[in-house]
Amino acid sequence: MDACDCLVVGGGPAGSSCARALVQAGMDVVVLDKATFPRDKICAGWITPAVVTELNLNLADYGRERTVQPITGFRTGLIGGKPVSTSYGHAVSYGIRRCEFDHYLLARSGARLRLGEPLRSLRHEQDAWVANEEICTPVVVGAGGHFCPVARMLSKAGDDKEAGVVLAQEIEFEMSLEERAACRVEPEVPELYFCDDLRGYAWCFRKGDFLNIGLGREGETRLSAHVAEFCRWLQEQGRIPKGTHDRFHGHAYRLYRGNPRRAAEDGVLLVGDSAGLAYPQSGEGIRPAIESGLMAARVIVEAAGDYRRTKLSRLDERHAARFGKLKSHANGHSLIPSAWRQAVARRLLATRWFTRHVLIDRWFLHAHQPALVQSVLAKTASQSVELLNK
Ligand SMILES: Cc1cc2nc3c(=O)[nH]c(=O)nc-3n(C[C@H](O)[C@H](O)[C@H](O)COP(=O)(O)OP(=O)(O)OC[C@H]3O[C@@H](n4cnc5c(N)ncnc54)[C@H](O)[C@@H]3O)c2cc1C
Repeated sequence: MDACDCLVVGGGPAGSSCARALVQAGMDVVVLDKATFPRDKICAGWITPAVVTELNLNLADYGRERTVQPITGFRTGLIGGKPVSTSYGHAVSYGIRRCEFDHYLLARSGARLRLGEPLRSLRHEQDAWVANEEICTPVVVGAGGHFCPVARMLSKAGDDKEAGVVLAQEIEFEMSLEERAACRVEPEVPELYFCDDLRGYAWCFRKGDFLNIGLGREGETRLSAHVAEFCRWLQEQGRIPKGTHDRFHGHAYRLYRGNPRRAAEDGVLLVGDSAGLAYPQSGEGIRPAIESGLMAARVIVEAAGDYRRTKLSRLDERHAARFGKLKSHANGHSLIPSAWRQAVARRLLATRWFTRHVLIDRWFLHAHQPALVQSVLAKTASQSVELLNK
């Protein structure tokens, strides 16, 4: 048996952030991932400045051998409509490639890595968990993303698995010289276009020589048709080269609303996508994944070996304090008919003020919420600060 203080299942941003903080607190941590790294993750690869702060990321150092694309503005609007340009004149976000980013974070976590090993079994035996009949631990962190096996084992009959789930398709490829010349998307200015019914949005994002195109919609069944229509429109507008690769890959994530997935059970915590934490307006999931990973590490350290749910449920409280109380009705009930709301929203998307101050600053950059480290610094005792900042 491989005995450890904590087993983290999944080495994405949630798992590696949690593992790193636990290692820095002196714990022996194993990260188990079914993939061998570097591995790709279906994602646009947009990170906001809070992520850089929370990870203590030195971008100059990171970018020496990896892609870091500063973002200084946006082109936004409706698919088929007239776009609005917003410029900040300085970097307000960054583009990274997940194959590089996740590998870097996992490698620097300091945890013992068991890669290329899926979680096949997990059973409880005398106050300990036994994973794959090989790893023994008192506490397991489920960080396996939207299809996390730990979350699936904990889910109960009656859980609404569809609530707030976004299905998305994406492609990222290195452009040839001809494609680069024919691509009119500027690297510093990603393009975001909403579907006419506002149930999703698409993006086209150039990161150095790489182009990332994708579209996500809540509860969608005709996703491929929407993606094909979007690509056709981009090509007609001359934004992307004709004959752009069409091998899109699909994935899903759950928005932080709808029916809650409880993040704590006896000896188990769920973090990141496995707990369904993506921001509801933008779908940004990397920042909440890192924040929940860091918060889970604090909860584990503070539990000091007592991993009963009564202690670990502090993570549910911290998720609620950080991301807001969950609402039981995913779409809410409004007295204003949805067609009217959509008409108003479409008009707002065409205005510069709304686009900059609400759509981008508030919903996409989440600029009103300081990075977790800063808010923790203001509030907590030095032990916790040390844990997050080391
Ligand atoms: C198309 C698309 C575009 C997106 N764009 C953005 C964006 O631009 N910015 C942003 O912030 N968010 C974006 N997101 C959301 C973001 O990708 C996720 O929220 C984020 O990756 C969550 O991190 P995580 O660590 O929880 O899970 P993941 O990154 O999914 O990592 C989970 C890990 O668990 C491993 N795993 C899975 N099953 C098992 C198993 N059985 N055994 C062992 N290991 C397992 C996987 O191999 C993986 O390494 C996007 C999502 C999609 C689908």
